[in-house]
Amino acid sequence: MTAIFSTQAVLNAMKSVLPQGHAFLPLHEPNFSGNEWLYVKECLDTGWVSSVGKFVDRFEDELAQYTKVKRAIAVVNGTAALHVCLLLAGVKADDEVLIPALTFIATANAVSYCGAVPHFLDSEESTLGVDPRKLAGYLEETAEIRPSGCYNRVTGRRIKAMVPMHTFGHAVDLDPLVEVCQRFDITLIEDAAESLGSFYKGRHTGQRGLLSALSFNGNKTITTGGGGAILTNDEELGRQAKHITTTAKVPHRWEFNHDMVGYNYRMPNINAAIGCAQLEQLSGFLAAKRDLAERYRQAFTGIPGIRFFSEPANSRSNYWLNTLLLDEECAGQRDALLEATNDAGIMTRPAWTLMHKLPMFNACPKMDLSVAESLEQRLLNIPSSVMLGAGLDHA
Ligand SMILES: *Cc1c(COP(=O)(O)O)cnc(C)c1O
Repeated sequence: MTAIFSTQAVLNAMKSVLPQGHAFLPLHEPNFSGNEWLYVKECLDTGWVSSVGKFVDRFEDELAQYTKVKRAIAVVNGTAALHVCLLLAGVKADDEVLIPALTFIATANAVSYCGAVPHFLDSEESTLGVDPRKLAGYLEETAEIRPSGCYNRVTGRRIKAMVPMHTFGHAVDLDPLVEVCQRFDITLIEDAAESLGSFYKGRHTGQRGLLSALSFNGNKTITTGGGGAILTNDEELGRQAKHITTTAKVPHRWEFNHDMVGYNYRMPNINAAIGCAQLEQLSGFLAAKRDLAERYRQAFTGIPGIRFFSEPANSRSNYWLNTLLLDEECAGQRDALLEATNDAGIMTRPAWTLMHKLPMFNACPKMDLSVAESLEQRLLNIPSSVMLGAGLDHA
C-alpha cells in the first residue's frame, strides 16, 4: 500500500491545535469550573443527597426548557433512559427495533432489556447516522403493514420502533426519518445521548421522537457523574416515565403501594446538583467546542486523504467528539495514525465495533451495511474536551 498522507503531517496538524506540555490529552474530560462544589455542598449540608430534592426538579425543568420539550425526567444513566423510552413506546418481547449498526452498545442493549431484537440499519456518510433513503427502499422490500403494525416479512416479527442516534453530536437527517416512520407505522425514539446542544433545522435533537434519551455520563458534553434523561412532548408519557422510574409507587402519606413493576432509575439529587451547575455553563462549553472544531477543520484542510468531519447541512452540532474521516484508499493508514497519536500522548480512538459483529447480536436481522462497514474502518475520534477550545469564561 502506498501512503497518501504522512502520519507525521497529521500529527503535526493536531499538535498545532492542541496545547503543549500535557503528558496526556484524553478524548473528553469533564470541566467543573462553575457552581458544582457549591450545589453539592448544599446537598451534603441539608441531607438531600438521594432520590428526591430541589436540584432534581430544577434540572428536569431546565432541561425541558433548553431542549424545548414538555417534560424531561432525570434518571441514573442514558441506558436506563433508553430502556424506559422503549418500554413506554410499547416495545414488547419478540418485537424488532430498528437501530444503526454504527452506535454505542447502549442502544442495542436497551432493546435487549425489553426482550426485543435489534435490527441493524446502515448509515450515510453525510451525517454518520441512519440513511433515510436507503432505509425507505429496504423497508419497501422487507416490511409489510398490517392492522396491528409493521411486520418483517422475513422473520415474521413486528417492527415496533426505530431508534436513530445522533452520532458524535451530529444530527441525523430527521425529516425523512419521521416520514418513513409515519409511512410504515413505526414509533420514533431518538438516542440523543451524544447530542445535548445539537440542533436539526433549528430544533433541538430529541424533540421529534415520541420519547428521546439523553446521557450525562462523565465523557459527555455535560456530566452529572452518571446520569441520563427522558424527553417527551407527551404529558401523559412524561407522567408515566416519572412513575415507572420511581418504582411505580402510588403517592400516599404513609402507605407503600406500587401499581406495576417499576424501576429504581431515579437520578439522585447530588448528581442533579452537578447537572444544574453544568447546565449553567452549557453555552460556554458549546462555544469552546465549536471553536476547537473550527481550528481542527482549518488545520486538516489541505492534507490529502483525510478530512475533518463538519456538521451536516441544516444542522448545528455540539461537536461532542471531533472526528477525522479517512478516504477509502487511506483506510489502511488508520492504525498507524492511532499508534502515532496515542504514543504522542494524544488520545485517539477508532469507531465502535459495529453491533452486528458482536457475539450477542450477530444473528440479528440487518440490511446491507456497506457504508457503516466502510465508516468503521475510516473513523477516528480526537481530543474534544471543552478546555481545549477558546471562549470558556474561567470566572
Ligand atoms: C453515552 C451513550 C448512551 C448512554 O450511555 P450511559 O453511559 O448509560 O449514560 C447511549 N447511547 C449512546 C449512543 C451513547 O453514546
